[in-house]
Amino acid sequence: MSSEKFREWAKKEISKTGPLHLSDAISAALTHPDFGYYHSEEIIGNRGDFVTAPEVSQMFGELVGAFLAYIWEQSGRPANSLLCEFGPGRGTLSADINSALAQISPQFSGSPLHLIETSTSLREIQETTLRRQTVYWHNSLKEIPNQPLFAVANEFFDALGVNQAIFDGTSWRHRLLDFDTQFELVSGPILSNSELEEFNPISLKNQDKGTIIEYSPKAVQISTEIALHIKQFGGAFLVIDYGKTNQIGDTIQAVSNHKPVEPWSNAGIADISHWVDFDCIKRASENTGARFVGPVSQSQFFTQIGIKQRAEMLANSQNPEVNRALFAAVDRLISPAHMGNLFQVGLII
Ligand code: SAH
Repeated sequence: MSSEKFREWAKKEISKTGPLHLSDAISAALTHPDFGYYHSEEIIGNRGDFVTAPEVSQMFGELVGAFLAYIWEQSGRPANSLLCEFGPGRGTLSADINSALAQISPQFSGSPLHLIETSTSLREIQETTLRRQTVYWHNSLKEIPNQPLFAVANEFFDALGVNQAIFDGTSWRHRLLDFDTQFELVSGPILSNSELEEFNPISLKNQDKGTIIEYSPKAVQISTEIALHIKQFGGAFLVIDYGKTNQIGDTIQAVSNHKPVEPWSNAGIADISHWVDFDCIKRASENTGARFVGPVSQSQFFTQIGIKQRAEMLANSQNPEVNRALFAAVDRLISPAHMGNLFQVGLII
């Protein structure tokens, strides 16, 4: 994969329709069939570009599994329940969820697993990781049967792209991607009334010149779809992601080989993400009549569902090296200096 193909694609699109909305540019950079970053090999994990929480420790997925089992029990053990993961990466989270379910709720652990995944190379890796389970792959939620759905997404919403608007002192304008001799971000047309409503700047106390706000159309579309599904057929959806609870700030970032890089000149060869606006997901879910619980920090969530106790249980071996690694993983997942406060957890139910 290279950044050249993205550049050629973007220049062509810009010459046809003008500067690009950032969410369209990010979607292409990540998922375009010819040059999308997620079609590359070896992107997640130590040998790839970034490490996600399920790859840090099996405890992450096991505890998510225990939580889903609890919700399933509380929901009255609905028959025909389905398990589901959005953007499963290497399949590690779903595999660890299932090994916890096999012990806690064997009936639930036999449920078919539905994966929402666009990348063909990641689907192949998932097929190997999850070879012991009955797995179905989909491009969107619409393809999933109308049955109770217990779903999870870790670092999925941050990959859906985001649009930006900038305040010029009088009006909010789209912030768009242009190309002259290099990529540059430019101010575009003034937001229409319906676009203003989506970006929701009315909730801002100060509208200083140069303020940037964000809005992810795909995040709203997907959380609406899943909330409608849960409202109608039952289930729950646990969302874990880099999070914030407002729409303010330019949070687009790119990572390659574990280091931050400039997003647009590296599009196609770097992971481009943004901080997920949990308030926006909450509004979208509640608009369907579903409930939204949280968000709480990853630190609070995993502390309350017993990550330290789980580590102590696993640490009973005689091997100090293993114990050190276990407690280092707990620290990485929940300490505020690492992932603990950056990541948020919310539940649609
Ligand atoms: N949840 C995994 C991987 C996170 S990376 C983990 O925690 O390790 C993001 C994942 O979402 C990848 O599997 C990527 O291919 C998938 N993805 C990104 N955009 C998508 C989209 N629009 N539809 C479906 N899957 C998508």
